[in-house]
Amino acid sequence: MQTRCIKIDNITASKEALHFAGELIRHGDVVAFPTETVYGLGANGLDAEACRKIYQAKGRPSDNPLILHVANRSMIDQVAAKIPEKAEKLLAAFCPGPITLILPRKSIVPEQITGGLSTVGVRMPEHDVARALIAAAGVPIAAPSANISGRPSPTTAESVLVDMEGKIPMILDGGACDFGVESTIVDATGEQTVILRPGAITKEMLEEVLGEGSVVIDPALVGADSVPKAPGMKYTHYAPKAPLTLLEGMPTRMARGFRREVARLQSEGHKVGVMASHEVLAELKDLVPADMMADYGPQGKLPAIAANIYEALRSFDEKDADVLLGEGTTSEGLGLAIMNRLHKASGFRSIQA
Ligand code: AMP
Ligand code: MG
Repeated sequence: MQTRCIKIDNITASKEALHFAGELIRHGDVVAFPTETVYGLGANGLDAEACRKIYQAKGRPSDNPLILHVANRSMIDQVAAKIPEKAEKLLAAFCPGPITLILPRKSIVPEQITGGLSTVGVRMPEHDVARALIAAAGVPIAAPSANISGRPSPTTAESVLVDMEGKIPMILDGGACDFGVESTIVDATGEQTVILRPGAITKEMLEEVLGEGSVVIDPALVGADSVPKAPGMKYTHYAPKAPLTLLEGMPTRMARGFRREVARLQSEGHKVGVMASHEVLAELKDLVPADMMADYGPQGKLPAIAANIYEALRSFDEKDADVLLGEGTTSEGLGLAIMNRLHKASGFRSIQA
């Protein structure tokens, strides 16, 4: 299959291409598209056979449910049996935006896409290309991240093409994604509101709406020895080809920690790739060749770092680094989402700087 990549700079000017992409979705095909979080691999969310193609293209385990992307409230009512009061509040506060709400599902939603669960994850993206595509398709679009399972999520159309060339008919190229980490997944159906996956909508932001102390993070995400409530969170994810180790600790100690580790690994004969802040990379210029460095943004600038981490990790896949070192951030605010992805990308290998 040939994969067409179509640049969408302007929704109005690209009406025809969007209409065509909507037709593909309606006819059971798969189209990759940009959202404000990461690129998604979309199919008609009410068509089990179309969604099977998503699982196939990604090599995704069948028990890992898909999130349904909707354009408006009436599409939510089409797929959700009920919207609990707290979910209503979150909807009013954050939708459209980078949040996924877990809701009881209606039987119109194929059980193949919910991993057999009685709930469905629903997200209303804000990105104008995503919204135009859902409108053109006229159906909720099931869409996981557009990467091969286990790899870093793509935040550019070029990275989607690397993983999906020859497997899907079309990629809509809307440029780089704003947030760069996947949506916050929130289960507000029970007594306690639970974050199943951290994202750009932080615990603090949710508590501003639902009340202080009313939101918890799924304990499985922060080290507890239990099975995560979002089935996908138990799998290895976001991993670059070379093994990654994180350096964690005080920002002021980072540069020294990196110098020590880089020197140690190089003395063992390794080709070391480093993903870190401007500040840390500036201190490594005499040790690490420029092409073995990936700059993820200014130290402590969490939105910039979130937007850059996946492409920074992917940048090493075409290089011959055999080990990677990455700089950890704080776990506060958006840092929780960043560190969740980095811990998974590194298989939880980390050392203190
Ligand atoms: P991705 O689409 O690749 O960003 O992954 C979607 C994530 O949402 C996975 O971790 C899924 O396990 C999770 N998810 C989707 N639907 C549900 C649901 N009904 N209940 C809990 N987690 C879900
Ligand atoms: Mg994913």
